[in-house]
Amino acid sequence: MQNRRKDLIDILKEKSPLAGQLTDYEMLEIIRLMPLHAYRENATILTKGEPANSLMFLISGEVNVHLNEHRVAKLTQGDVFGEAMFSDQGIRIADAVAVEPTEVLLFDHSTYEYLLREDTKVALKCKLIFEQLYKKNSMANEYFFTKDPAKYLALVAHNEMKKSLVNFVQSHVKKINMFPLVATGTTGELLYKEAKVVLTKKVKSGPLGGDQAIGQMISNDNICGVIFFRDPLSAHPHHADIEALGRLCDVYQIPLATNPTTAVAVLNYLTDAEQYEPPLVNSLLDDYSQQQAQVVQGESTQSQDSP
Ligand code: PGA
Repeated sequence: MQNRRKDLIDILKEKSPLAGQLTDYEMLEIIRLMPLHAYRENATILTKGEPANSLMFLISGEVNVHLNEHRVAKLTQGDVFGEAMFSDQGIRIADAVAVEPTEVLLFDHSTYEYLLREDTKVALKCKLIFEQLYKKNSMANEYFFTKDPAKYLALVAHNEMKKSLVNFVQSHVKKINMFPLVATGTTGELLYKEAKVVLTKKVKSGPLGGDQAIGQMISNDNICGVIFFRDPLSAHPHHADIEALGRLCDVYQIPLATNPTTAVAVLNYLTDAEQYEPPLVNSLLDDYSQQQAQVVQGESTQSQDSP
């Protein structure tokens, strides 16, 4: 075992992100804490979407990392993977598969917590190294992480306003068709049948989560405008969702039209390249990010200070 530990130190010293950052003694300290796991050829080691609760040092064998059907990395002895553990991501962002029989050392939450208690300095050094690795890799793979770069025009109408939306779309079909379209369930069905527009994407019916799904697309930067003909004369069970969608339009400064007259204005705005370029600066988002960074900073200073 003594020899094996010496081999492991040599492997980590040669290539891992810890190389040159930790002393032999510190490396040995970490190696002592990490169990060795073996995988057969073609075994899945990490799966996208799972909680990112461990990272791994590749000791022998070879691992392919896949992201959305693309191989984004081929890992060999000494490489580290699973570093999303040290990010605010919380989940695995890629799959890792053993290309041949493979051995890894597992660094998980309990390893880290133990290290924090036993040798805080080394634990924090590791945390920094892994955080930097995560940042570097996610920047390098940014292209693959961008799942859908399209900017959709969202079309929604309450039941009493559906006819009005169909009429609007029919009379502005040329401009409407300049955008990839997304619509809530029933609105989408009607637009397809009556207005003959082809939707690129359909989400659930509004009261079943469709409005929230469009809200999520806004927060992912996939919406250029929302045409939502709201019925002002009746109550709706999903009032909270309708409000939330409007609020997100304000947060992200997405043009929102709620009746045919404003829809004409929004459509003209969106198709008018001169007005649409350059995009307005949204200081709300920058201010909010800064404010939240201070909250995180304040909380982590407090927890470091507390005994
Ligand atoms: P619908 O949803 O298109 O499925 O009718 C619209 C809504 O009420 O939000």
